Amino acid sequence: MEHIQVMGVLGLPLIHAGDDIARMICDRVPVQGGDILCIASTIYSKAKGFTRKLSSITPSGRATRLGNLNGEDPRFVQAVLDASKDIIMEHPFILSEMSFGHIGVRAGVDQSNIEDGMVIFLPPDPMKAAADLSAELRTLTGEAVGVVITDTCGRSFRRGQTGNAIGWSGFPAIRDFRGDTDLFGHVLKITEEAVVDEIAGFANFVMGESNNGVPAVIFRNCPSWTGHNDLYFRNDEDITKRVLKKEWSQPL
Ligand code: GDP
Ligand code: MN
Ligand code: MN
Repeated sequence: MEHIQVMGVLGLPLIHAGDDIARMICDRVPVQGGDILCIASTIYSKAKGFTRKLSSITPSGRATRLGNLNGEDPRFVQAVLDASKDIIMEHPFILSEMSFGHIGVRAGVDQSNIEDGMVIFLPPDPMKAAADLSAELRTLTGEAVGVVITDTCGRSFRRGQTGNAIGWSGFPAIRDFRGDTDLFGHVLKITEEAVVDEIAGFANFVMGESNNGVPAVIFRNCPSWTGHNDLYFRNDEDITKRVLKKEWSQPL
């Protein structure tokens, strides 16, 4: 029987710029080879200083216009615009693409779990962040540990946010079933399973969203998988993005 264990890491303090989160986790739990460590992007960004004070931000004309349109602080909107490579939708909320490929509401900029008047950005290069954390864990434990950096994201078609992987290291994002046969011998032509998002989703459930104080979750004994890392659609494949951009190009 496969027996996957999922363990929230308890007892971590509030994270500040300069904190060594890999060491803080290893000090609290015996991380083992083959484990997958999920980290909330929020604490990675706080540790690395990817945060800003709202009072230090001067909103542009566009940020002021969108702030008024969407009922948000123009300085917060400016932070969202600064974190975005491309704006897909301006209203009723900003949906944008970041340079690392992720598309998210308000560019994933958060105002929760940080002091008043501060914003937290997603790490600008979350794949490197995951690889760096994995290397630090290797140095600390001598073991190969996979890493998933998560963020809570909204989604199309359904209510409710779920955890998504925004960076990962140690395995491919997608388990590729194409070419495999089902129980009846039919060849699967389409199925690519976004395993990193499934892991991030369950990690997010263990973390919670508010004051749990559990920003790290360990998965132990997961089966391995093979596949590829092309988690994000290419522009020409992304039907939703195309439709949204067309819709948004009408004057508001
Ligand atoms: P996000 O999903 O990455 O935006 O992060 P959330 O703000 O939803 O936080 C995820 C989990 O981490 C929740 O359990 C929070 O209470 C917890 N958390 C956030 N910041 C800290 C921190 O600095 N220290 C600790 N111990 N937990 C934190
Ligand atoms: Mn977030
Ligand atoms: Mn969250």
